[in-house]
Amino acid sequence: MGTSTRLVHLGNDPHSFHGFVNPPIVRGSTVLFPDCATMESRNQKYTYGTRGTPTTDALCEALNALEGAAGTVLVPSGLAAITVPFLAFLSSGDHALIVDSVYGPCRYFCDTMLKRLGIEVEYYDPEIGAGIEALLRPNTRLVHTEAPASNTFEMQDIRAISDAAHRHDCIVTMDNTWATPLYFRPLDFGIDVSIHATTKYPSGHSDIVMGSVSANAAAWPRLLEAQTTLGICGAPEDSYLILRGLRSMAVRLDHHQNSALAVAHWLEGIDAVERVLHPGLESFPGHEIWKRDFKGSSGVFSFVLKAATPDQFKPKAHAFLNALSLFGLGYSWGGYESLALHVNLNDRTIRKAPSAGPVIRLQIGLENIEDLKRDLEVGFRAAAAV
Ligand SMILES: *Cc1c(COP(=O)(O)O)cnc(C)c1O
Repeated sequence: MGTSTRLVHLGNDPHSFHGFVNPPIVRGSTVLFPDCATMESRNQKYTYGTRGTPTTDALCEALNALEGAAGTVLVPSGLAAITVPFLAFLSSGDHALIVDSVYGPCRYFCDTMLKRLGIEVEYYDPEIGAGIEALLRPNTRLVHTEAPASNTFEMQDIRAISDAAHRHDCIVTMDNTWATPLYFRPLDFGIDVSIHATTKYPSGHSDIVMGSVSANAAAWPRLLEAQTTLGICGAPEDSYLILRGLRSMAVRLDHHQNSALAVAHWLEGIDAVERVLHPGLESFPGHEIWKRDFKGSSGVFSFVLKAATPDQFKPKAHAFLNALSLFGLGYSWGGYESLALHVNLNDRTIRKAPSAGPVIRLQIGLENIEDLKRDLEVGFRAAAAV
């Protein structure tokens, strides 16, 4: 069945809830058992609030189907969707390879908490491909990928990386937030654990913070064990809203994709723009990998604003951003509204910030493109005056 059809019908069985098309929001801590024998054996579907309710299960079932996963756990944020599997699969003395262009707070977690727990973290070039083999050590246990890269959108050869890592018995994780399972299915490319900030497109309305982690059959028991041990779980109300967001995600993403590509192409023709960082553009270095592996592109990309000297980077970026009125200045993305920010790449050790100018990231929302272009033109005029 087609993706839109599946999104509409996944994760709910109306006839088990008196025919209502949406599942009820089942909240709860205590679940009663009919007798001591059942309580002792825990031989019933639900046993306690932290272990899932019919509402969280409905979302997990939908995500399992979309990801082709053996199991999915829900967590309270996209960041927790990274830290929980890292804690599940890494132990003191292990070595982990993390892509240098990773989501910033993931890097902070690695450099602080993982380090304190005695795990050695090494960053690698996003475009390393099969060359990752040379970095794998006998104690390398986890390789983390994210494609396209946060903020700079480099693509990764996921199949080549996961094949090399599996030859060395590593778990391979991927942050798939940008593409969503509609445009990329990590497990089909050898990934063991697919990570999402469902805060973004699955929510779609900037009103929920939540994450999901989906695993293949080999990785699932250990992931579930870690989540249960840590006592981290997803809330029923949030699960309900994410499931509701999924129903319209294909339509929204299609709109984000078309508008973002239109704005990206338009930006390529603007004098003040040095380069547009969007994997869907033929001019972009990772375009061939994107075309080969991905089914679409979402609404977030960046561009490099021309600046003659480094001391102009910040003033020009700020002048541009402060002049915008439709694009809000704010973190996150995936909602209905357009956003913009000046990207900070100071923590990169391998893929350093471009030298030609500041990097501006845009999330293209559901507004009319002509209005967005006019807003950006105001920004370019303000930047030119600096
Ligand atoms: C936003 C984001 C996250 C974190 O999600 P939160 O719900 O904000 O914690 C993780 N990975 C990527 C790629 C993101 O863009």
